[in-house]
Amino acid sequence: MDPRRGAADRPYPVGVDALPTIETASDELRRRALDPPMRFGEGILDEVLAAEEPYVLVTQPQPLALLDPGLRERPLATRIVDSLEHAALDRLVAGLPDGETVVGLGGGMALDAAKYVAWVRGTRLVLVPGIVSVDACVTNTIAVREWGRVVYRGWVVPDLVAVDFAIVRAAPPRLNRAGLGDVLSIHTALWDWRRGGEAGKARFVPAIARRSRAALEGVMALAPAIGEVADAALEAIVRTYALVNGLCVEVRHSQPQEGSEHYVAYRLEALTGRGFVHGEVLGLGGVLMATLQRNDPGRVAATLDAARVGWRPADLEIDRSTLERALVGLPAFIRESGLPYSVIDEADLSPVGVERLLATSPGLWS
Ligand SMILES: [Zn+2]
Repeated sequence: MDPRRGAADRPYPVGVDALPTIETASDELRRRALDPPMRFGEGILDEVLAAEEPYVLVTQPQPLALLDPGLRERPLATRIVDSLEHAALDRLVAGLPDGETVVGLGGGMALDAAKYVAWVRGTRLVLVPGIVSVDACVTNTIAVREWGRVVYRGWVVPDLVAVDFAIVRAAPPRLNRAGLGDVLSIHTALWDWRRGGEAGKARFVPAIARRSRAALEGVMALAPAIGEVADAALEAIVRTYALVNGLCVEVRHSQPQEGSEHYVAYRLEALTGRGFVHGEVLGLGGVLMATLQRNDPGRVAATLDAARVGWRPADLEIDRSTLERALVGLPAFIRESGLPYSVIDEADLSPVGVERLLATSPGLWS
């Protein structure tokens, strides 16, 4: 566990200790999290927001620009989020007027900021994803940046997730296609989880793993439709996020969905100081780790290609020496970060081993 994750010096608002966390969330809250209310449709935002007044809106410039001028005047207050740094989130909370409801509209950053506000204030929470590239609209913890790293804080359940296809389709297609990455991660994550169970380092639950695998297969079959950014594919991705989040809530950890492919993404972000499109960098991590696991990496790469996800180092503007450095340093990184058992704990990631991995991962340089 990273010592910087210690709680003592954290500037949380007064009283925050009493708020739910992943360890202390009530059974009632957990039950609600298994099946959060969701609405899908074309042009539903107007109606959804009209029913939520009065509310405060937490958003980003691009989705805000899509709103009709009339809708833009409705919130009690509108705040643009540009950081998930802890101090920035606390400033956001402190500067908002009282409101019955907080509406988050946009990408992961806007949704996580809205979740933070609802967590600290205990208000109703409505999440309107502007893209389906990440699962932030259904996950319960909040991805906060502390000392340059992502840590997960809090525990909230949205009262409504509203997916307006007109809003989502206005985002760059690339971002919506990348939504596949956060589902395809199941492929490598389940291998890691099962192996962790065999090594006595995790409590593997076969029935949960089977349900996670079945959800993944359903989305893999939709890869070409994801490439076309079809409404049905977008809906399937969001419903799968919710289903798999429910499985993670049941086992109380993320291993049904998150494994070594995520750790590669975290390592690349920490090493380069860059933010990547989450699902794209997960695609790269997924192909690399599936190769290391001898776990059908060709199918992972082919699925990403069928959905037109840009997952190759060249697409992500990661050069070969940076990728080598990221992989050689991966075992130390996961130990330091206290991440669960994965293929990284047992693979050869020496410079020679990494050379071999880069030479054998399918389609990496094509
Ligand atoms: Zn993820």
